[in-house]
Amino acid sequence: MLLKVNSKGLYCAKADVYIDPWRPVKKALITHGHADHMRWGNQQYLCHTDTVPVLKVRLGADVVYQSVGYNEPVTINGVSFSFHPAGHILGSSQIRVEYKGEVWVVTGDYKLLPDGLSPEFEPVRCHHFITESTFGLPIYQFESPLTIFDDISNWWQENREQQRATVICCYSLGKAQSILNYFKETEERVFLHGAVANLNDAFRENGYHFIGSRIAADQKKEDFRQALIIAPPSALGTPWMRKFGDYRTAMCSGWMQLRGMRRRRGVDKGFVFSDHCDFNSLNAAVKMSEAENIYITHGYELQYAQWLREAYGLNAQIMKTLYNDTETEEL
Ligand SMILES: [Zn+2]
Repeated sequence: MLLKVNSKGLYCAKADVYIDPWRPVKKALITHGHADHMRWGNQQYLCHTDTVPVLKVRLGADVVYQSVGYNEPVTINGVSFSFHPAGHILGSSQIRVEYKGEVWVVTGDYKLLPDGLSPEFEPVRCHHFITESTFGLPIYQFESPLTIFDDISNWWQENREQQRATVICCYSLGKAQSILNYFKETEERVFLHGAVANLNDAFRENGYHFIGSRIAADQKKEDFRQALIIAPPSALGTPWMRKFGDYRTAMCSGWMQLRGMRRRRGVDKGFVFSDHCDFNSLNAAVKMSEAENIYITHGYELQYAQWLREAYGLNAQIMKTLYNDTETEEL
């Protein structure tokens, strides 16, 4: 086995490197900047160029790293590694691993539907395909994020007509930037929670310029009337929100498809927008990989592995990892 899970993470013994390790190691290849994939404490990091700003913001300026672009193979101890677009967030990559003709692909987190910002998922053929299964049940069927952004735009307009502020809660890395990118031509006011503003500032060094102003401490209530505010879900229900006066809240998450979830989160509106694959996308990605061996990680591993065995006759098995995308974070 070219890749195997051990107590520290997904390990390639031939090259002596880990992919998205959950315990500190010597050399870590990182699929993307979300906290459960890019952890603190590794001696060296190898990631895509657009993951570097996040690496520095979250792990400190003195982090030791090497960066690569997409489709630029790096050879370590005779094993070839290359990064390919995963369509999840800026910089997100599938990592292809090849040794003596045997090819593995680690997808990390990924989606097939375009969000207008993240480079689109590139199918990579392999023998062994490792996939997440966050939404690996048939009930999860998502529309294109671009359609959802149109819905957000309409809802914002309704709120503007009623002189209200619009607060969109979404993960500060990924969804925040793709929503801001969609609204880049707007002439209306857009404000950012500090967590979003910090990441946007970091992306500037890679040439990305996102709209929106960081909310100042002395910002007046009137400034927020009719404005769009982008904040992480953790801001929901906190006193921080009071400064907006009359406002409406929305949550962007794949879980919004579940009845009752919107009520549970106490928001006025739920948008079914995820940076992960829905059920059909997972199936499409598995087929495009042409792999016969499929390893299912975080999500509905049991159900999805069983589905792949029964529906497609694939050799699908569960791969236990510690990736844990919580609902309040990024989904
Ligand atoms: Zn992620």
